[in-house]
Amino acid sequence: FNNKKVMVFGWARSGKAAAKRLVALGAQVTVVNGGEFEAEPLRDELQAAGVVFINHDDANALDETFAYVVKNPGIPYDTAIVQRAMALGIPVLTEVEVALSSFKGRLIAVTGSNGKTTTTSLIREMLQADGQKVTTAGNIGTPVSEVVADLTPTDTLLLELSSFQLMGLPDIQPDIALITNIFANHLDYHGSREAYVAAKFQLTKNQKSDQVLVLNADGQDTPAFSDKTAAQVVLFSRTQSGQLVDSTAGNLVIAGETVMPLTAIKLVGPHNLENVLAAATVAHLAGVKNAAIQQVLASFGGVAHRLEYLFTDQDVLYYNDSKATDIEATQTALNSFDQPTIWLAGGLDRGDDLMRLLPNLTHVKAVIAFGETQQKIVAVAQKAGLPVQTVDDVAVGAKVAVAMAQAGEVVLLSPAAASWDQYQDFEVRGDVFVTALKKVLGR
Ligand code: ADP
Repeated sequence: FNNKKVMVFGWARSGKAAAKRLVALGAQVTVVNGGEFEAEPLRDELQAAGVVFINHDDANALDETFAYVVKNPGIPYDTAIVQRAMALGIPVLTEVEVALSSFKGRLIAVTGSNGKTTTTSLIREMLQADGQKVTTAGNIGTPVSEVVADLTPTDTLLLELSSFQLMGLPDIQPDIALITNIFANHLDYHGSREAYVAAKFQLTKNQKSDQVLVLNADGQDTPAFSDKTAAQVVLFSRTQSGQLVDSTAGNLVIAGETVMPLTAIKLVGPHNLENVLAAATVAHLAGVKNAAIQQVLASFGGVAHRLEYLFTDQDVLYYNDSKATDIEATQTALNSFDQPTIWLAGGLDRGDDLMRLLPNLTHVKAVIAFGETQQKIVAVAQKAGLPVQTVDDVAVGAKVAVAMAQAGEVVLLSPAAASWDQYQDFEVRGDVFVTALKKVLGR
């Protein structure tokens, strides 16, 4: 990027990190934003360093003197500037490409439709428990450009990448790449599914034969990747025995060594077992000892708000799954328990057919309903013949749940709806729930 003209399109956290990093790399940077630029020290600093700010997204600002466009992953490809870049043959990158251009250490990269954050967090914990230095960035929250300047060739960089980020990463070449799974059921025409698979293939397309691609053997798209990649393919599977990490006989077995019974793994649910297998496979390939993997799996209760184990109080297990903003996520959560469950649900009404949850209520003992979808949840509970109580919000719900719960039972917040009818986001909703629980329980 040295001495190259680069247009940064979008002035959110990743655009800011990219602009700053590009200046450090010697690029001549122009920043373009749809909205107004707010006054802030970083803008003054960059302006003083020669960065040009253009306060509208006029496509004419882009001409053939620019070598690259770096766009925010959330900006669609049909935007005028992006279209013009493509017409002019100017590569359209994401912030991660800028960051990786100067990184010389070991790269581990994770993508997939679901389980990215959980798996990435597990891998980070496992490397750390093994005493390895690891820096995590990407879709998990921190732009890679914010962290990369401090990394040395002996460091490990662990990235969580969305498909949108991958589309702007022509040169990525991970030492270990992981695709957790590909669910594209909602894409009902072939072209789009292929485009989605093609975007994920970006992760491995530059890999060489001494690098590794870890894939889910149970995924229908796995052959599409393993047939085409130059990397060594290592599979994980919840159902097929004989993989590097095996769980089919009730124990977690890594490279032939029995590490722990599956019942000692803190994360719950079959989906999380897949995340565990994927993470343990990557960690083993990264040189992590089995003892460190075991230690993490026995204690890691999940990422906040994602079927997160909170605590056990008087033999009742409490879980926060506030991130479950659609029916599928709540189905996944409800399928993760075989103990009697007190289920708290409700939120923004998007017109979904909540009756689709009926088959997943086998272990539910009582329902607590709130929010815009309250009456729909009540209808589902009644149809299932379950007791149901309506409450004003998750805080009151927490109190009611504590009063109801008996030893051996589970209390689960898994709303099957977005939070915006009552809360700013799912994090706030989850935090309100946890705070209320702790207050009632005196924890
Ligand atoms: P992502 O980062 O890909 O969004 P998360 O790890 O944050 O994934 O998990 C979000 C939700 O996705 C979980 O609460 C769960 O409902 C679902 N999920 C997680 N892992 C899997 C998996 N391996 N298979 C299917 N669904 C999953």
